[in-house]
Amino acid sequence: MLIFKTINETREFLCSQKGKSLGFVPTMGALHQGHLDLVRKARQENELVAVSIFVNPIQFNNPEDLEKYPRMPELDANMLRSVGCDVLFMPDVSEMYPQPESTVYDFGPIEKVMEGAARPGHFNGVGIVVRKLFEIIEPQKAYFGEKDFQQLAVIRELVRKLSLSVQIVGCDTVREPDGLAMSSRNMRLTDNERAVAPKIYQALQTYARHKETLTPSSMKNSIVKELHNEPLFRIDYIEIADDTYLQPVSRWADASGALVFAAVFLGNVRLIDNVRIF
Ligand code: AMP
Repeated sequence: MLIFKTINETREFLCSQKGKSLGFVPTMGALHQGHLDLVRKARQENELVAVSIFVNPIQFNNPEDLEKYPRMPELDANMLRSVGCDVLFMPDVSEMYPQPESTVYDFGPIEKVMEGAARPGHFNGVGIVVRKLFEIIEPQKAYFGEKDFQQLAVIRELVRKLSLSVQIVGCDTVREPDGLAMSSRNMRLTDNERAVAPKIYQALQTYARHKETLTPSSMKNSIVKELHNEPLFRIDYIEIADDTYLQPVSRWADASGALVFAAVFLGNVRLIDNVRIF
């Protein structure tokens, strides 16, 4: 596996490989099996696989979250070697942003709800970095996790809006054996917080099965009530939203597909998850 820190070196190497199909997985590092699943999928579908590790400061709206974001580049590189990654791009902040960024995207209604509403500027920062990474790597396919379902919808919108030629591939959420969605932030949980964290997925999964007997608002209320039973949880939001524009669903018949989304604080760690209802 080749490791590059500069845009020029990365471009030069990838140029020398022109003609090979290239799959790309952007990440912020502190890798786990969820990330590695994306890399494995990219490995199966492409002749060349590139991964980026870049903790993108402009997508953090909470300075403490950015500062505490786990960083473990050597371990990450070993994990990536073990799943057959060819190129690891690990730029510094000054390499990616030699000047302050001023681009403002309008992703429409998708960015106005849930993560977009709770984290102002977050999706603009994601859009800027992903577009930049696409321009550097020029992949045919890029792989994103459904764990961050709204992010995946924003990226699809970015690609559509800018007529980019990359194909976006969404991949299932990978979970711990107890159901907790894998996340780099899980390692910041205390033992007590980690022990109760799977209750988020359990509640989503339990009530998502009851579409025939619950309205969207009663499903949401049941989940909120269930999560309120756990004193370590502080709910940021529970939403039931359609699978295309992520808008709140008030009647099942109004949507062709819907998911339940959760953002929950445990101490100062904020976890997100989602489960498809139909
Ligand atoms: P991150 O490093 O958190 O920015 O995530 C990089 C990519 O990995 C994103 O496309 C995420 O959606 C994806 N990802 C993170 N956690 C999981 C998971 N548990 N299962 C599947 N994909 C994931």
